[in-house]
Amino acid sequence: MRPELMKNIRTVEPYVPGEQPQHKVVKLNTNENPYPPAPGVRDILRNMDTDSLRLYPDPTAEKLISALADHYGVGEDQVFAGVGSDDVLSMCFLTFFNSDRPVLFPDITYSFYKVWAELYRIPYECPALDDSFRIVREDYYRENGGIIFPNPNAPTAIYEELDFVEDILSHNRDSVVIVDEAYVDFAGRSAMELIDKYDNLIVVQTFSKARSMAGMRIGYAVSNPELIRCLNDVKYSFNSYTMNQTSILCGVEAVRDTEYFNESIRKIVETREWAKEELHRLGFVFPDARANFIFARHPQCDADELFEALKKHDIYVRHWKGGRIGQYLRITIGTREEMEILFDFLNKYVKK
Ligand code: PMP
Repeated sequence: MRPELMKNIRTVEPYVPGEQPQHKVVKLNTNENPYPPAPGVRDILRNMDTDSLRLYPDPTAEKLISALADHYGVGEDQVFAGVGSDDVLSMCFLTFFNSDRPVLFPDITYSFYKVWAELYRIPYECPALDDSFRIVREDYYRENGGIIFPNPNAPTAIYEELDFVEDILSHNRDSVVIVDEAYVDFAGRSAMELIDKYDNLIVVQTFSKARSMAGMRIGYAVSNPELIRCLNDVKYSFNSYTMNQTSILCGVEAVRDTEYFNESIRKIVETREWAKEELHRLGFVFPDARANFIFARHPQCDADELFEALKKHDIYVRHWKGGRIGQYLRITIGTREEMEILFDFLNKYVKK
């Protein structure tokens, strides 16, 4: 393109989502839940009044906000909802990260953070994880324009206990700290417990993982009313009708069915613990996985080659070429049956 025309155009290096193959595969590449959403979601969709789709949805997503507030025992003014946590996180970057000082997030983490920082021209720095892929908390004890990290981290699946999160919060009283808890339901305690104690904390969660609704696109943030108000003001300055009517109704059903939610998590954690043993037996090494995926390498198998061999057999996992993680594969926990297909293949591949 002509430079005169180019000069006013925003160019960014976009986030690259995992593949969504359109033929049937053993799909262990984008951390989806292998089980269907709660039965109430299916009932809502079956009985959907399609005539009502002519109307705009409720811009406040009140029913969903209220169900989430009830579920977590917080006020409705403490919850913000968006189109997947990607939408919520993007709004958070726009709302809370406006300093000349750099926003801090780990060098190995959810790769979208860097894309939003670039898109919104927010300065950022990425302290390196240590040799065992742990976040070094002291790296976050310095002047900054905000902090964000996932817990458990992605793609490492390492979970840090709440005292670790609290240390980062207490050393950064004047910065907004966002804890991205996309995978926390598979791991341990949520930082939501700390919301009343730290006015600089935002906790972001999603319906895409433990609630099996990646296709519905629902995410949310929980914080104090002041920060949630700031987030809403930015949202209404961007797009007031982010949540569609169907998502709002289905989301409410999913939140209400805690029994189904707990059972789904139980099954995935059980399969994960068994998959860890199998991977160890085959000689894979990996940090202790507390999410719905395992980040593993095999000292004798090149990750690139293994990734391609798996793909050829219609088993999809995730791989990032090069750098410190180039020899690792991120394997989502599927059903027991899907994992058995994976292990049948790996058994033959590793021993050949
Ligand atoms: N945070 C992390 C750490 C993730 O891995 C993902 C999933 N790609 C997201 C946020 C976004 O998930 P969603 O937009 O589906 O809620």
